[in-house]
Amino acid sequence: MRQWREMKGRHPDALLFFRVGDFYELFREDAEEGARLLGLTLTTRNNGAAAGVPLAGVPAKALDDYLARVIGLGRRAAICEQVEDAVEGAKGIVRREVVETVTPGTVLEDTLLEAGRNNFLALLSPAPGPSLGLASADLSTGEFVVEAVETDLLEGELGRLGAAEIVVPASLEEALAPRLAAPGFSSAPPLVVREDWLFDEAAAGEDLLRHYRVHSLDGLGFEPEDGLLVSAAGALVAYISELQPRGAGHLDRPRIRRSGTGMLLDGMTRRNLELVEPLRAGDGGEAGTLIGVLDETVTAMGARMLRQWLLRPRLEAERIGRRLEAVAELASNRELRSGLRDRLGGIADIERLAAKVGSERAAPRELLALGRSLEVLPGLEALGRSAGSEALRGATVGRDLLEDVAGRIGESLSEEAGATLQDGGVIRPGVSEALDELREVRDGARGFIASLQARERERTGVGSLKVGFNRVFGYYLEVTRPNLDRVPDDYVRKQTLANAERYFTAELKEWEEKISGAEEAILELETRLFGELRSAVAAEVGRLQRAARRIARLDVLSTLAEVAVRRRYVRPEVHTGFGLSIRGGRHPVVETMMPAEAFIPNDLVLDRSGWMVVLTGPNMAGKSTVLRQVGLIQLLAQIGSFVPADEARIPISDRIFTRVGASDNLARGHSTFMVEMNEAAAILSGATDRSLVLLDEIGRGTSTYDGVSIAWAMTEHLHEKVGAKTIFATHYHELTQLGDLLGGVKNMTVTVRESGEEILFLRRLESGGADRSYGIQVARLAGLPPPIIERAFELLDELEGSHTGGGEGLGRSGRRRPASAAALEQLALFPAEHPVIERLGRLDPDELTPREALALLYSLTAEVAGRSGGSGSGGGG
Ligand code: ADP
Ligand code: MG
Repeated sequence: MRQWREMKGRHPDALLFFRVGDFYELFREDAEEGARLLGLTLTTRNNGAAAGVPLAGVPAKALDDYLARVIGLGRRAAICEQVEDAVEGAKGIVRREVVETVTPGTVLEDTLLEAGRNNFLALLSPAPGPSLGLASADLSTGEFVVEAVETDLLEGELGRLGAAEIVVPASLEEALAPRLAAPGFSSAPPLVVREDWLFDEAAAGEDLLRHYRVHSLDGLGFEPEDGLLVSAAGALVAYISELQPRGAGHLDRPRIRRSGTGMLLDGMTRRNLELVEPLRAGDGGEAGTLIGVLDETVTAMGARMLRQWLLRPRLEAERIGRRLEAVAELASNRELRSGLRDRLGGIADIERLAAKVGSERAAPRELLALGRSLEVLPGLEALGRSAGSEALRGATVGRDLLEDVAGRIGESLSEEAGATLQDGGVIRPGVSEALDELREVRDGARGFIASLQARERERTGVGSLKVGFNRVFGYYLEVTRPNLDRVPDDYVRKQTLANAERYFTAELKEWEEKISGAEEAILELETRLFGELRSAVAAEVGRLQRAARRIARLDVLSTLAEVAVRRRYVRPEVHTGFGLSIRGGRHPVVETMMPAEAFIPNDLVLDRSGWMVVLTGPNMAGKSTVLRQVGLIQLLAQIGSFVPADEARIPISDRIFTRVGASDNLARGHSTFMVEMNEAAAILSGATDRSLVLLDEIGRGTSTYDGVSIAWAMTEHLHEKVGAKTIFATHYHELTQLGDLLGGVKNMTVTVRESGEEILFLRRLESGGADRSYGIQVARLAGLPPPIIERAFELLDELEGSHTGGGEGLGRSGRRRPASAAALEQLALFPAEHPVIERLGRLDPDELTPREALALLYSLTAEVAGRSGGSGSGGGG
């Protein structure tokens, strides 16, 4: 218990799994938490110093399963092992040490990771200015990136990473915690709070120098003004070393990411465009998402990179152009494409294997898989030589083929190398003379024992005598019960069975010892040789990681080409000008959910003569689909992908904003009108004339007047002050008047055809505005009972009658007019104030006698009845 207390004192925030023989025990408060979280049985010991202490244990073999659950619940676990042999240390208590702390952001066990996804640990460093340092690392692949992010845009950046754990300085906790619980996150990642001094720039710099064994920070690519980045990177390295004392030797050097290279997608946009997860909670998986359509990658490395590309479109025309060039070549050259993909398909997850080798975790079989995968590299290079595009040649031609590493693994490891060293046969014959000799001794002894059977049968005359082996008793001679009288005197009984006895002889025992002695020596020698091989490969981990990244890149490029061909996408013309034009555009996800050709393509132009569209049309017409389709085509173009259209000219956008009105988003549970307005505010302050703004039914979460007014004012502001290309989808047909008032705004509608009281959805995008909402027709389609539909039409007629009561229409003057109270009154479906209310307002009850009051009450009720009934006892007074 003293040992336990000491360990627990050093790891107070972790569940301490304390190794005792074949179990990991949890004690005291850990045991109670374990019982609650993991359903373990809580017990106590009834003797010794630890009597009465709450205790709960898990079998050592099942540790990984329990760890997975601990991590899944956002908790951390410290693993305390016995670091000396129980037999050798028998004099006292065996020494124990915490060998690693497992947290959601640092897990390395395969069972806890997803092949196609990174598992990022993120760390924020404190800063007085408007930016924070953000360091992120995936320990399972060794990837490490550091960048500065604007504090305002933090949720978007963290959401892109999908960080499993976030380390923050104590001074930021209060400000950050609520923001990280924002709706942009599907589930809030656990926050780890550390004292601010741990982020100190000077100390962090020292940590980096020590970890990477370099003499100055410029050697790592840092510039003098990068203090913020140094502090974040160094603090992350220190944090990882704290959790994994065995070192994070495989952590790649930090890649420093400068701003202006990637497009930031905020959480709402990422979700509304359904890039990697569907909008509706519980839909699960990647079905219905963009990545679900695009992910035809053939390696896990490619799958992870595709996800990264998708969540961080590029801003540099040149880079996008290089990707498009490669995709174009692969799309048109079928042989090159399939040759590449066939070879890539034979490559294991080199990146994660390299990380395992680097952290001394790779098993024999895994090292073998790594070696075999490397053997594919020369073939890839040969293919690359036949390619013309810069990106394809750059990833293959003249690159490090790691032939030395592949060769060394191939020469040393046997084809049969298994999951553990205990299985034996890991090292090839011919690698070590000593090993070969030991194997000979072992095999010779086995051979001798095998020959014993024939000899002993002859000697005893028992034809059924057998030589056998089992793990507990070792080698034996077995004689069945009827023959026991023929057993010679030198046989010693070992084990009794129902119908046989098992024996050994001095000779058998001698040979058995020879075998076990040789086996022990073999295991020891193989362990040493394997360890040497693994360390030699670990020294090359950086080269392996770079090769992995090139492979991932080839996989993603060929995947984009494959999808382009399969789904008939075209190469977009990506430019740095203003105008966007799409001919025959389709929604990449919705089209896959329909029979071929059923999706109706649409054209759209946003340019200097009209950069904003008010998109009207009834519910179900297809407004939201067109809107998202434009956003997705924009995004695909900027990751360097072909796009679902017949032709597309796409300007590089600095941001894409997508917002969906509150009631469209209610399924998430935490969207309210307040959130909607919050989000709208973020667009108004963040968008520029290079942004693409997609607003879907904004203002819907409140009353009609409020909604129309807010939408109106926002459109005016975006038009006058921002100049962003904007599509505003709305079922408020009143907003079409903006098309007449504002020069840059044009009206478009997704058409429907009316026949009688029915409507037919044509899904065609055309100029002009919807003149009405067709809500009742849609309600009929949705199955509202006929009497209700009829009554609704009646009421609509009445209301529309009172609406067209007269006065100047909003657009009449042809001049731009603000959405003043007077203008909005024209939209009114009811007069502003009822005369009865007016009369009541002028009334002073204290002036009335009871009798007068009663008379007045009669008069008022009569007036109300007269007005709403249309006829009857007129409004007297
Ligand atoms: P709205 O936003 O106008 O209410 P949606 O965009 O949600 O309408 O579209 C409603 C449904 O119509 C979609 O779920 C889809 O099945 C279908 N749809 C939309 N656009 C098209 C299209 N261009 N071609 C075929 N079907 C479409
Ligand atoms: Mg819609």
